[in-house]
Amino acid sequence: MEQMQGIWALTRENIRKNMSSMSFHRWIDVLEPVTIQNGILIIQCPDGTTKSTLTEYYKDTLRMAAKQANTQIVDIMLILPDQRRDFDHDEQTATPSIYALNPRYTFDTFVVGNSNRSAHAAAQAVAKAPGRVYNPLSLYGGVGLGKTHLMHAIGHAVKQNFPTARVLYVTSETFTNELIEAIRMGKNAEFRHRFRNVDLLMVDDVQFIANRQSVQEEFFNTFNTLHNAGKGIVISSDRPPQEIANLEERIRSRLVGGLSVDIQEPDVETRIAILRNKAQQEGRAVDDSIIQFIAEHVPNNIRQLEGSLTKVFFYSNLKEEPITMALAREALKDLLPEDKKVDVTPTRIKEIVADYYHINLQSLMSQRRDKEVVVPRQISMYLCHDMLSLPYKRIALLFDRTDHTTAISACGRIETMMQEDAEFKRSLEDIRKKITEG
Ligand code: ADP
Ligand code: MG
Repeated sequence: MEQMQGIWALTRENIRKNMSSMSFHRWIDVLEPVTIQNGILIIQCPDGTTKSTLTEYYKDTLRMAAKQANTQIVDIMLILPDQRRDFDHDEQTATPSIYALNPRYTFDTFVVGNSNRSAHAAAQAVAKAPGRVYNPLSLYGGVGLGKTHLMHAIGHAVKQNFPTARVLYVTSETFTNELIEAIRMGKNAEFRHRFRNVDLLMVDDVQFIANRQSVQEEFFNTFNTLHNAGKGIVISSDRPPQEIANLEERIRSRLVGGLSVDIQEPDVETRIAILRNKAQQEGRAVDDSIIQFIAEHVPNNIRQLEGSLTKVFFYSNLKEEPITMALAREALKDLLPEDKKVDVTPTRIKEIVADYYHINLQSLMSQRRDKEVVVPRQISMYLCHDMLSLPYKRIALLFDRTDHTTAISACGRIETMMQEDAEFKRSLEDIRKKITEG
């Protein structure tokens, strides 16, 4: 273990040279080496956002730095607090009550808005009197809206309000895996001891335990034991308990018997507040207009919102440029809807068609009757009719013709040609695309 700490210290030094101190503080200082297994340095990230950012942008740097630190290292692996138990051999020293709580997910960092006000209030009430109010508390809502954050916040607050309280937070995945492992190893008693001797049990994303009979059975028993003993229970799921398919009726009715509160998608004001908060946490000054821009253009999920800001910061570091609107646009271009909507007008149609057939606009508008100009002219008329729904009379006038039957027969001709000639039809599609896409 001492060796691992030494390797980690060197790794950090190697990385520090290649990173701004701000980024280093944000992305590397928060990491914790866990162990080395078969030459793989296992590193714990505090949360999913950190892990995915590191994976996307810094993993190669990290790997190189670790290899440089010690030739015994062949690779690195990033894990979440949740997975830590899989690597901790020294279980006595791991404190199950807190190892899985992300220090950044507290009530202080949780922005309250209309979309999450009731969930926040219920969470705070539970944190003040776990087991005594709203028991069980179910938080439900779509992904990335703050359920996990609120559960961790409850955990931190309970530890603060009741320092001796035993708080256990697990994802339903961890619950399931540990149960299966316990059964396999014949350690059911240990498993029960671990989950039933707590003052507050929080199980995240319980929709995942539906479908598994044996896991539900154990969950139900754990639940009952704790509930009967007046211990607190908080669960989250992506939908209200009544709607979790395949969830045993007795569990469902237990959950419905407590308090269920939903978290909805945040409105623009809340999104702005979240972004401001996050920028501040990271010590970055971001202009209000840019915050507003991101809040208005990025979909409602808060995880994506945070990810967008991270991406903007990353771009700014990479290019060593200040955060401007242009930089934000560039960083987020994949997320933004195509904003070059073109205004389709008769003039635009005429210009594009003329250009496509290499003739000039005057010829298109002239009275010439040779094929080179007649077909493009008819196409232009047809597109004015088809794309703009202009009446024939109007179309004729747009081409300096007094007789509207000219426009009618032009459209008829083009339709026939499209039916008869696939090649012609394709070029028409081509033209249409040029007109709409700018
Ligand atoms: P869920 O568990 O509902 O999928 P999370 O709790 O993981 O969502 O939230 C996703 C991200 O958004 C986290 O980084 C979390 O800190 C952040 N987040 C969610 N809601 C808020 C909020 N109200 N204020 C600040 N950050 C938030
Ligand atoms: Mg979650």
